[in-house]
Amino acid sequence: MKSTFAIAYSFLFLIALQACGQNPSVASQSTKSMSQLPTTEAEWKAKLSPEEFYILRQKGTEQPFTGKFLMHKEKGMYTCRGCGAPLFSSDSKFDAHCGWPSFDKEVKKGVIKETVDNTLGMRRIEITCGKCGGHLGHVFDDGPTDTGLRYCVNSVSIGFEPAKK
Ligand SMILES: [Zn+2]
Repeated sequence: MKSTFAIAYSFLFLIALQACGQNPSVASQSTKSMSQLPTTEAEWKAKLSPEEFYILRQKGTEQPFTGKFLMHKEKGMYTCRGCGAPLFSSDSKFDAHCGWPSFDKEVKKGVIKETVDNTLGMRRIEITCGKCGGHLGHVFDDGPTDTGLRYCVNSVSIGFEPAKK
């Protein structure tokens, strides 16, 4: 009697083992390709549109008053176009009349990296995504809200996830 149970159990165990052996490998493969960021500029070029590549990876700037998020007023989260990391809440967005979407603070301390940028004969603070290093724009200390900051961001550098209703 005992041995019949033992056989039945080991049979079930084998089926379970087989099922486990197949599913996780498929799952881990798909999460890997979803979450893995490009490591070379060639890989970034393949992942992004030419305009996104120019701005995010080559620190380009979109023409003022042309970006799709300039007048965007929906509630939600602005994310990095390169890697999807949350960057700015719609609550921190304000109209700076400068031609680019503007925010007065990052959604969480450290999601944005600041670097001194001395190009174009100006001393500015460049902002990049803390996760993938994508160029977002610049931050200035002339903001009109209580943070005193104005994160001036290219629409091309960001995506948007509407708040759940
Ligand atoms: Zn990013």
